[in-house]
Amino acid sequence: MTSNITNVTVLGTGVLGSQIAFQSAYAGFTVTAYDISDEILEHAKARFAGLAKVYQQQVDGATEARTDAALSRLSVSSDLAAAVADADLVIEAVPEAVAIKRDTYQKLSASAPAKTIFATNSSTLLPSDIVSATDRPDRFLALHFANEIWLHNTAEVMGTEQTSPEVFDRVVAYAKEMGMVPVPLHKEKSGYVLNSLLVPLLDAALELVVFGYSEPADVDNVWRIGTGAPMGPFQILDVVGLNTPYNIMAHGDERKQQIAAWLKEHYLDQGKLGRASGEGFYVYDKTA
Ligand code: NAD
Repeated sequence: MTSNITNVTVLGTGVLGSQIAFQSAYAGFTVTAYDISDEILEHAKARFAGLAKVYQQQVDGATEARTDAALSRLSVSSDLAAAVADADLVIEAVPEAVAIKRDTYQKLSASAPAKTIFATNSSTLLPSDIVSATDRPDRFLALHFANEIWLHNTAEVMGTEQTSPEVFDRVVAYAKEMGMVPVPLHKEKSGYVLNSLLVPLLDAALELVVFGYSEPADVDNVWRIGTGAPMGPFQILDVVGLNTPYNIMAHGDERKQQIAAWLKEHYLDQGKLGRASGEGFYVYDKTA
């Protein structure tokens, strides 16, 4: 089955939106990237140029000619109606706040042609939290990418009970055509597949250390040796960045808040934010 999708519009040109837009253009689609102001779109253009360089370094076969061709298929717009006028698929990557998402879908529904499929990249909201803000429940679902899409190329596809099976299958086909490994879910699940596995692992690892049972290096060793996994949970936490678990834990129950307070005292307050800052649970060579 082919997706029958040619024109893709990405809403939001932040961390993930810029990657989704560039990857789609790299795979040959005609892409429009929308954001709320021309000033932000200037930053988006710089992000795209930066991604072109990253692809040349990190993606097999990504010559300058190929990344230039991707850039030539990619345009930007701050006019929503114009940006979606001929879209077969809109992928939404606006901030993770339900009010912004709903407002975006109300405006989008008023502008997009009947043919357009809407997909949300939301990490923590379910598509059924947003569907009532759209005018087309049968053509709406989640298509969830991972950060650094060119390296971590999964695309989790998750519909609501109202999503049409034909639309679902077209989006799975699209994910494949744009170079992803599609992961279709049979029904809605908070955290999709990856975070349903990863979040409890990271939580259990933190509990072992924060409540005094073990040390990060020993937890990582036992996970790597015992399962053959290439990285332990504290190495993964360093890659994710320690702000993310802190923010999640700070809003949880008493046990989670204790873990958050521990992360803050021992890591965040000392500028140890994970690999990107040069130090987290491990020390990294900043020149590497
Ligand atoms: P971000 O803050 O980096 O980017 C959000 C972008 O949306 C910004 O460019 C902002 O100007 C724009 N924006 C704000 N209001 C808007 C509106 N009303 N209409 C259109 N654009 C608007 O956020 P992000 O990290 O790219 O996350 C975007 C979505 O992707 C979220 O739903 C998030 O859960 C999901 N996601 C993020 C990651 C990640 O690692 N960052 C991974 C997977 C999924």
